[in-house]
Amino acid sequence: MLSVENLVKTYRTGDKALNAVSFTAPKGQVVGLIGPSGAGKSTLIRCVNRLVEPTSGKVRLGDLDVTALPRGALRRARRRIGMIFQEYALIERLTVMENVLSGRLGYTSFWRSWLRRFPPADIENAFRLLDRVGLTEHADKRADALSGGQRQRVGIARALAQEPELLLVDEPTASLDPKTSRQIMRLIVEICDERGLPAIINIHDVALAQQFVARIIGLRAGAVVFDGPPDALDAAA
Ligand code: ADP
Ligand code: ADP
Repeated sequence: MLSVENLVKTYRTGDKALNAVSFTAPKGQVVGLIGPSGAGKSTLIRCVNRLVEPTSGKVRLGDLDVTALPRGALRRARRRIGMIFQEYALIERLTVMENVLSGRLGYTSFWRSWLRRFPPADIENAFRLLDRVGLTEHADKRADALSGGQRQRVGIARALAQEPELLLVDEPTASLDPKTSRQIMRLIVEICDERGLPAIINIHDVALAQQFVARIIGLRAGAVVFDGPPDALDAAA
């Protein structure tokens, strides 16, 4: 479970990006984070994995107090948090399989030669993940030979390869056409349900969020202005 308590972020510029944001997300729940540009959505996602340091407040992941960790312990803690990005952030010259395996190493230090050292169990697991996201026959293709939807499927499999306890998903469909966007949203929500993974999805497209997630949190000027099921959002608007 993810728990965010009274999270505040004031940037050095004086911008108050988050103003006492609190919520919890139980296992398997996908939270759609919506709100106008500048509402604080990216800041919230970045504070959860401490790419941005919160000014005050707490983030807990299971029994782990993320906000209390010394900087030196962050790298290991981030292994428990899978990230999925708008522009996929794949290593273009590596194959699909290599990109998925790179999730086992973290994103910062990666060398092709390390791939040969992967134990068979990791490789079998990567094949299972590729099968789950529908890319088995593309395992040996280079990432830059894939369509946008396929690339995002690689991004999903790579995030899962690190066996995360939480998924942070930043505008996963912003570069995709409507049909592919729906397929990707469905896949993410199904996988979270299967694995009991909580997720936060920063999503611009409110209708898409409403169609696929069970819970929506609306941010405005750094504060939670809506928290509930998608059908309650229309009534609140
Ligand atoms: P959203 O993702 O909802 O568009 P952001 O989290 O990017 O919102 O931004 C929230 C507020 O914080 C905005 O006022 C933005 O200008 C400000 N902000 C974001 N990042 C920084 C930064 N690195 N330094 C200063 N202000 C920032
Ligand atoms: P995103 O696409 O994730 O919303 P932006 O394009 O808003 O990010 O911001 C790009 C970069 O500039 C980010 O690192 C963000 O933190 C930073 N940034 C955003 N708003 C401000 C701001 N008002 N002052 C300083 N830096 C900012």
